[in-house]
Amino acid sequence: MENKEIKTKPELINQQSFEFLKKYINNPSPVGFESGGQKLWLEYIKPFVDTSFVDPYGTAVGIINPDHPFKIVIEAHADEISWFVNYITPEGLIYLKRNGGVDHQIAPGSRVFIHGRKGLVKAVFGWPAIHTRLHNPDTKEPSPKVDNLFLDCGARSKKEVEDLGVHIGSVVTYQDGFDELANDFYIGRAFDNRIGGFMIAEVARLLKEKNITLPYGLYIVNAVQEEIGLRGAEMIARRIKPNIAVVTDVTHDTSTPMISKIIEGDCVCGKGPSLAYGPAVHNKLLNLVQEVAEKNEIPVQYRAVSRSTGTDTESFAYAHEGCPSVLISIPLRYMHTTVEMLHKSDINETIRLMFETLQVLNPDTDLNYL
Ligand SMILES: [Zn+2]
Repeated sequence: MENKEIKTKPELINQQSFEFLKKYINNPSPVGFESGGQKLWLEYIKPFVDTSFVDPYGTAVGIINPDHPFKIVIEAHADEISWFVNYITPEGLIYLKRNGGVDHQIAPGSRVFIHGRKGLVKAVFGWPAIHTRLHNPDTKEPSPKVDNLFLDCGARSKKEVEDLGVHIGSVVTYQDGFDELANDFYIGRAFDNRIGGFMIAEVARLLKEKNITLPYGLYIVNAVQEEIGLRGAEMIARRIKPNIAVVTDVTHDTSTPMISKIIEGDCVCGKGPSLAYGPAVHNKLLNLVQEVAEKNEIPVQYRAVSRSTGTDTESFAYAHEGCPSVLISIPLRYMHTTVEMLHKSDINETIRLMFETLQVLNPDTDLNYL
């Protein structure tokens, strides 16, 4: 058998950054209540940037060359889908509303934290036992829906719930944390899109460690409130008014069962970042990223979007007079579940692609369409 030469690329993530990744993923960052995660992120990124600020709704920004008039953004979103306490029954059970597109189908039997006034309160999504569900052969099995899912925290009256510090509007997050599987696969809650926050922070670290001088101002943006309509990015794009935006988010690995490649396209974890074609994605900027990938032997995958990428890319592209934007996505399995899964090599390659792209871009980069 032919022994093909395997090119080993240098690892980008070091032990310290890996420790940060685990801590960042295990820390809850519910939509609208991202401050805890943003604090961790800012602490991590501060040594790598010249200055930083936080906007009124908590979007965190690290800046390299803050005085430069030409501004490039690299962006991810910091928020995590979660639930809101909506109604407490006289018996002390808790009904919820969604905060972002949290998946009702995975809820039964899950453990959660309710973020109450007195701190975290443990609870579970209760669900009728299989024996009691199947009692009557004429009735269909109940399927989980927002209006039949409830939390049980051990309290047996509304007062007992309230005494724990739980109130209407308390946010609820799953307990599941970071873990490693075989063959360099990672699982965790809300890798969507805190893996993006991690990757842009790593880009800042590499720029600093490799002593790279950029001919423009670089804004490393970890935006809030993406999951409920790209709101954080909208706010910060108006504030920064960048000249170019490089956005990163997750995209679906479509190689697992029950996903149509005809509809969702072909994308697999481990085969590199995915580049999207879509009206908000600037063609010339996308070409430039493709060339960077080719030159640096970074594998990429492609997808096409209809109308919108559904990411912060639109917020940047359309925020002011038009900001050339590009989307670099990392493939992810089981999005919006508690076991979102991705591959280490894609993290490395996505970081590398952003890092190399930033060294090619400059204020004279010609992005004119005509
Ligand atoms: Zn999402």
